[in-house]
Amino acid sequence: MMQRPSPSARSPVPDKDPRVVAIDGPAGAGKSTLARLVAGHLGLKWLDTGAMYRAVAYCALVKGIDPGDAPAVAKLARELVLEMGEQPKVDGVDVAEAIRAPQVDAVVSTVAANPEVRAEMVARQQAWVKEHGGGVVEGRDIGTVVLPDAQLKIYLTASADQRARRRALENARHDLPAVARALALRDRLDSTRAASPLPAPQDVAADAVVVDSTDRDATEVLEEVLTWL
Ligand code: C5P
Repeated sequence: MMQRPSPSARSPVPDKDPRVVAIDGPAGAGKSTLARLVAGHLGLKWLDTGAMYRAVAYCALVKGIDPGDAPAVAKLARELVLEMGEQPKVDGVDVAEAIRAPQVDAVVSTVAANPEVRAEMVARQQAWVKEHGGGVVEGRDIGTVVLPDAQLKIYLTASADQRARRRALENARHDLPAVARALALRDRLDSTRAASPLPAPQDVAADAVVVDSTDRDATEVLEEVLTWL
């Protein structure tokens, strides 16, 4: 459900970039599904910035780099040859599945809290948008830091239970309590870190629309979002 601003409060702002949509929110809220649908509707490309942080975390694990070793992980992030298409690739190798492993889930928030890693990823995300002439970009800091001039900023959320259920289903995991615990920990780390934390729904910037996807399917959420364009 939309919480703010009310339709009458929104007016066209001429300096907004009309070909850019930012979608932020916690894990499992349905950002990727919504981003793909909105991108398809607008004929734009879609960028999953979480996959970029996951790729850095995955490579740190593969190379035996401690995710908490900030300078080493920052160097890795700067040197990473990362292609963000339908399937993310590192050094030409498809890592789409590998970056979703529970081992990556467990360390990605530590990697993403590293300010130097963030600076590198934000620069790459902004370059991606320039190169593609806009796009639908999803993450945690897109409307606030990466693309503050986006035409539309969505903060997508859902109840913690529903988000855990969705994640468990997506990853074919049956240990729902373990998935819920891992998700809650990641949310806490992502929303309490010093560098670009994910705000709580009540603290979202005034120019973002809060959309709650609890008990609603992707089509219903898309219909609502399209009314904001
Ligand atoms: O979106 P997803 O859950 O795959 O993101 C994985 C992790 O990447 C998040 O838990 C968060 O730590 C980090 N992230 C971030 N900023 C973004 C996107 C993701 O810090 N823009």
